[in-house]
Amino acid sequence: MSKIIAINAGSSSLKFTLYEMPGEVTVSSGIIERIGLKNSIFTIKYGDGQKYNVVEDIENHEVAVEKLMKQLKELGIIADFSEITGVGHRVVAGGELFKESTLITDNVLEKIEELSELAPLHNPANATGIRAFKKLLPEITSVAVFDTAFHTTMPKENYLYSIPMEYYDDFAARKYGAHGTSHQYVSERAADMLGKPLEDLKIITCHLGNGASITAVDGGVSVDTSMGFTPLAGVTMGTRSGDIDASLLPYLMNKLEITDINEMINILNKKSGLLGLSGISSDMRDIEEAAEAGNDRAQTALDIFHNRVQKYIGQYIAVMNGVDAIVFTAGIGENAASTRKIIIDGISWFGCEIDDEKNNIRGEERVISSEDSKIKVLLIPTDEELVILRDVVCFAEKA
Ligand code: AMP
Repeated sequence: MSKIIAINAGSSSLKFTLYEMPGEVTVSSGIIERIGLKNSIFTIKYGDGQKYNVVEDIENHEVAVEKLMKQLKELGIIADFSEITGVGHRVVAGGELFKESTLITDNVLEKIEELSELAPLHNPANATGIRAFKKLLPEITSVAVFDTAFHTTMPKENYLYSIPMEYYDDFAARKYGAHGTSHQYVSERAADMLGKPLEDLKIITCHLGNGASITAVDGGVSVDTSMGFTPLAGVTMGTRSGDIDASLLPYLMNKLEITDINEMINILNKKSGLLGLSGISSDMRDIEEAAEAGNDRAQTALDIFHNRVQKYIGQYIAVMNGVDAIVFTAGIGENAASTRKIIIDGISWFGCEIDDEKNNIRGEERVISSEDSKIKVLLIPTDEELVILRDVVCFAEKA
């Protein structure tokens, strides 16, 4: 039976999900972490809850892909490489060029590398993963699925910054957003769950994970999203600041005696958000636990997180002039019942109410608002890999 693999290559990691077709059955998934460092961690889940877990040095993505393929064979997950007929790669930045998923040719790969300016941490890693697969499996259908593609429908008034227009015309300086596959997937599922055509719905999707973004989806298309030129903007995240006044940068650089702007940006990307506010952790579970135990900074971090999500929901109700449904997804959105409750309780004036009993759940699709709630609130586990898989299938069928 043919199999398709979805790949998410990060700067030092490579995640995969292997599907058997037809039927979209997950036969294996896993991750290789710490690529390029000592003691890389290689984990494969397969079969009936079996797990392969090894720590060894894996020097680069090419070696990681080779080892992965070899191990899939050794564990009997595939009998031969030829069983894998397609691969889908998550690519973070597609700029204005890639409005949808695309077959990866040499030219496309070149463009993905050129777009590294927009995602310096991610696109080079994505391209490395693509190259490694191309080398090992040159004949199979290879598709790039862009995080930004879903947001290319945003109207000008939402994607342009209020800066001189030449900067957009000459340098493509604008909002691109991210997490597009997730926002797309959960908005489509929401329409299915509500039994209404997506075209008739205004939905606000809250992807709340370590990275977090909120999107306004009107009639099935993204009309605004909280991340910006890069994934640094928007709501408070695990380690990212979200929105700040740009004038803070020179002020803080002066106070901190930092002369390299990249060092300052690094602080906003890696040392801010829940981590910076709490001084404890970037992980919501740790923050909730510390707040529960009476830690003030953790409570403040929680309050700010809830407040920023609420503000974006309010903005997007204004952007769409209404909303039919609010969706929670990703690690925090799927698991933190109290977060969902606090956020919705705080904006109840708009006409939304959580049903406490229905909300007492983790990681399962469900409408969690009360019967009377004018705005429906839904919990929908995201599945970005499934979107990638389906896009590969589309191209494979056309081939
Ligand atoms: P993601 O980036 O989607 O994997 O989400 C990671 C975030 O989800 C982290 O902040 C985790 O602390 C959070 N998370 C996972 N499980 C829970 C939970 N049971 N309660 C609260 N937050 C959770």
